[in-house]
Amino acid sequence: MEASVVTALRTALGDAGLRVGDDIDARFCEDVLGQRGAVPLAVLRPATTADVSKALAICNDAGVAVVTQGGRTGLVRGCLPQSGEVVLTTERMNQVESVDADAGTAIVQSGVVLQALQERVEPMGLAFPLDLGGRGSCTIGGNVSTNAGGNRVIRYGMARDLILGLEAVLADGTVIDGLKPFVKNNTGFDLKQLFIGSEGVLGVVTRLVVRLIPKPTDTAVAFCGLRDFAQVRALLRHLRQRMGGELTAFEVLWKAYYTRFLAMKPGAGAMPDAHAFYVLTEASGSDGEALRARFERALADALEQGVIDDAVVAKSETEARALWHMRDLAIEVSRTLGPHVGFDVSLRIADMDAFAVDLAALARRLHPGAQTVVFGHAGDGNLHLAVARDVQVENSYAQVERAVYDLVARYGGSVSAEHGIGMTRRAYLGHTRTAQEIALMRALKRTMDPKNILNPERVLGVPG
Ligand code: ZN
Repeated sequence: MEASVVTALRTALGDAGLRVGDDIDARFCEDVLGQRGAVPLAVLRPATTADVSKALAICNDAGVAVVTQGGRTGLVRGCLPQSGEVVLTTERMNQVESVDADAGTAIVQSGVVLQALQERVEPMGLAFPLDLGGRGSCTIGGNVSTNAGGNRVIRYGMARDLILGLEAVLADGTVIDGLKPFVKNNTGFDLKQLFIGSEGVLGVVTRLVVRLIPKPTDTAVAFCGLRDFAQVRALLRHLRQRMGGELTAFEVLWKAYYTRFLAMKPGAGAMPDAHAFYVLTEASGSDGEALRARFERALADALEQGVIDDAVVAKSETEARALWHMRDLAIEVSRTLGPHVGFDVSLRIADMDAFAVDLAALARRLHPGAQTVVFGHAGDGNLHLAVARDVQVENSYAQVERAVYDLVARYGGSVSAEHGIGMTRRAYLGHTRTAQEIALMRALKRTMDPKNILNPERVLGVPG
């Protein structure tokens, strides 16, 4: 990078706002999976929206590419620097600016860590209902840029549903101030949605108005064994009807997942692995014993009607945590396959059973004896898959990837339900989105970032 650009950035951001050379910490080159990117030309550490605006204007004029980083917990290499890029980190923009308890909103800076926001509003009897494994280090800006999901989407929706307004900075430094706190605001295009889920390629999100909910005071958690997938679908219908808006999680584990969990943690399971499917379900509300009684009645009726074959209801918070633990160890359970490829796909719930059968056959066809693990947020139409690969076979990773995405496309599914496209899934965007949709995305990218400096090559690949 030219010395004049460094000087301009230092003048704009101050000494605390710029790191170059040996002062660049190694963490900016690495993501949560331990994957490494290039060493960036510089690390920009803006403290305000005005700083972001000035820094982007300088980089845009100089034609320097910028990759924006929050907590670096993304799973698709979107945040890792490519050679010749500078990093813009939101780590100094980490304040909850205000909370409006009456309206159930908060104004937050994009570098706020998810858990910090959750903990800040909890003593006020409020909750920010987005929740995922990376809560301790992922940022709201990253959650919104990737439209994060998690375990309670079935009740509260994805990040997209929890944002009322946002402020973002375009590549040339233009500030788009859309920080309106209104639920209803039908005044032209909903521009915030352009920035939500577009993985930072259209602008840098700087501040947000988030929705808060009254914090549920009580939860009830159960683990059920079922004999086939028709029963899984019947249980989802049953619980939706009986618990209504109190149903906050419906996670399904295929048998192979649970068997591997039991092998890894003998004695930690809730029941023997005698069933074909397992459902971890949760209801949340604010009337304690009555909630639990309704939940247990609904499960007892499901048992009586033959919808489920077995159920364990947590009697305490410790027991509830132990049931969730079986689901939370998904990464470790997948690792028991050995070398494998992970997926995060959306499918119609009506297709999931047949898809999983086809997936197992496909894995064996590619590599005799190869196993699969299937689990996920079935209530949202989202499955996570792990497919073993044979490291002896050249390009086994790409081979498994292509075969699985082709299968997903045949089912009319989505190649990414919640993790995003980033760098790793660019080649498969066309498996889910039409050529016309991708052309419109490219046109928006050219309009909002004509010099292609923001997260270049992520999501859309090389401009064409
Ligand atoms: Zn997930």
